[in-house]
Amino acid sequence: MLYKQTNNMNLLQDFLVENDHIQFATPDSPSYADLRTGFTINATKSPRLIVRPRSANDVSALVSILTANHLPFTVRAGGHDMWGRSQADDAVTIDLREICHVRVDDTSHSHFAWVGGGVIILDLVKELKKHNLVVPHAVTPTVGFVGWAIYGGYGLLSTKYGLGVDQILGATVVDAQGNIREADEKMLTVIRGGGGTVGIIVDLKIKVYPLDQVLAGAIIYQPNELVRAIRDFNDKLHQAKRAGIPKELGLFPFVMNGPMGKALTVLFVWASSDLDEGQSWLSQVSSWAPIVTSTVEPTTMAEFNEKANSLVPDQIYGTVYTSSFRSLTPEVTEVICKHTPLQPKYPETLFGIHELRPDAPMVSPDNSIFNARCPHVIIEVLAMAGSMDTMDEVLEWGQMFHDALMKTDATNITVPYIPLTPSDRTDLKAIYGGNFEILQTIKAKYDPDGVFENALVQP
Ligand SMILES: Cc1cc2nc3c(=O)[nH]c(=O)nc-3n(C[C@H](O)[C@H](O)[C@H](O)COP(=O)(O)OP(=O)(O)OC[C@H]3O[C@@H](n4cnc5c(N)ncnc54)[C@H](O)[C@@H]3O)c2cc1C
Repeated sequence: MLYKQTNNMNLLQDFLVENDHIQFATPDSPSYADLRTGFTINATKSPRLIVRPRSANDVSALVSILTANHLPFTVRAGGHDMWGRSQADDAVTIDLREICHVRVDDTSHSHFAWVGGGVIILDLVKELKKHNLVVPHAVTPTVGFVGWAIYGGYGLLSTKYGLGVDQILGATVVDAQGNIREADEKMLTVIRGGGGTVGIIVDLKIKVYPLDQVLAGAIIYQPNELVRAIRDFNDKLHQAKRAGIPKELGLFPFVMNGPMGKALTVLFVWASSDLDEGQSWLSQVSSWAPIVTSTVEPTTMAEFNEKANSLVPDQIYGTVYTSSFRSLTPEVTEVICKHTPLQPKYPETLFGIHELRPDAPMVSPDNSIFNARCPHVIIEVLAMAGSMDTMDEVLEWGQMFHDALMKTDATNITVPYIPLTPSDRTDLKAIYGGNFEILQTIKAKYDPDGVFENALVQP
């Protein structure tokens, strides 16, 4: 029996009985607790039912039944939305994690892959490795690839190959009427930046790139010199940028509490098989401040992600405070230097900086509503803790840090990044700028009745 059986749940129940290849969990099921919890434990919701379709046909049938019976639903993949917005209390969760295929076409000059709507980055990267191919992806390997790519998608390979939105070539979508359709150019324009607002993406066609060996790992700077390391690193990075940094060099600076103390750590990826030039950049970056150790080595993106995966917590308590800036000005750097030494000493508590550099390739802006195309940095204050007992302490630190960042020169602050911003702080008109009207028009065409009312973007 399904939880809280009501008349409008009957058809859904009948459907699940007839289609017993589709797993589902009600609040009484042993698997419910595991399936409903995402990355942020304190943002866990209580859906009335979690269904796990295995194909586009399953998703199509589910959407038809849910909409016909006015049952609200959400779409979940990697479960890394920090506010748990891929689930909702009393709604049905369409959990896509069993739609996780990766099909590679490396027969032609350009390389493509089709990836299932629920595929996790680590699994995608490992599958691509079998073909000596790579794709840009999030720093955290457990994030869902589609959920990462559709709202922007920043990562260590983005300077060379572009953001996540720029990898999207096609999509198979279950639309508001429950039809399975290949997204036309209009729909793709909205998917690139607006995500699931016009449909459930069961399959994404993406660009992939031949690349075997890379140089990758972490450079850890002296913990007892944290503030000096941050200042020196930023100065040297600034100088190097003025002189010209190759697009093959991806850097993700963050502050973490490691075994040696609180340290500036930089994830380093050299995305080219010319490892000699990479070694020369590694020497330079390692000299920007005194280091304690470096794990950078010749490796593959798959191995690099496997290692990263072993360091990332599966689940946390807390949230993220994110702000975006046109550049890392001395004023912003000073705020960072003031608040990172105050970072609570838990391994889960982090602070990091994503960057969109000016030379990152992009698709024509006409084919995408993603609007944050000018160079900028995204500062993530990851106020995360391993237990409920320490959550308040990290939240207090995160809020103070964020408030101080937001008090810096307003002309340097730019629009927030949708997936890392709470819904009540997302001003869609400001975020999409001139593309907001396109978003509204295309949404009105494909989802006039607001069937996807729980998608992150609601114009
Ligand atoms: C630890 C951590 C690290 C991160 N690192 C980065 C990073 O390096 N770069 C970066 O750009 N972002 C990063 N993010 C943000 C992340 O990319 C987004 O939160 C992303 O939306 C998560 O996708 P998911 O599938 O894991 O999450 P979910 O919670 O499952 O989904 C999030 C949203 O995406 C929608 N969605 C997901 N898949 C589909 C689909 N197939 N069809 C329709 N809608 C779909 C869901 O409806 C939901 O609204 C990070 C987040 C966390 C928590």
